[in-house]
Amino acid sequence: MKEIFKNRKPIICPSCGYKPVAKIIYGLPKDPESSPYERKLYELEEEGKVVFGGCIFTNESPKWECSKCNQQIWKR
Ligand SMILES: [Zn+2]
Repeated sequence: MKEIFKNRKPIICPSCGYKPVAKIIYGLPKDPESSPYERKLYELEEEGKVVFGGCIFTNESPKWECSKCNQQIWKR
């Protein structure tokens, strides 16, 4: 997979054209019933607007990801 850098969140996936492009949320997903915020995150995940990126976040971690082709996009 090629590395794609963008200044802003792309509207459509630069790789396959799918939209929306999801924002990657870092940190372990919690129980969706634990709070309205967690519940909302899961709803967004089902809509493809958010993906859960796991708990390891570094400066080199991508910021967005296509939920269809899994192309990851880095913020420049
Ligand atoms: Zn894509």
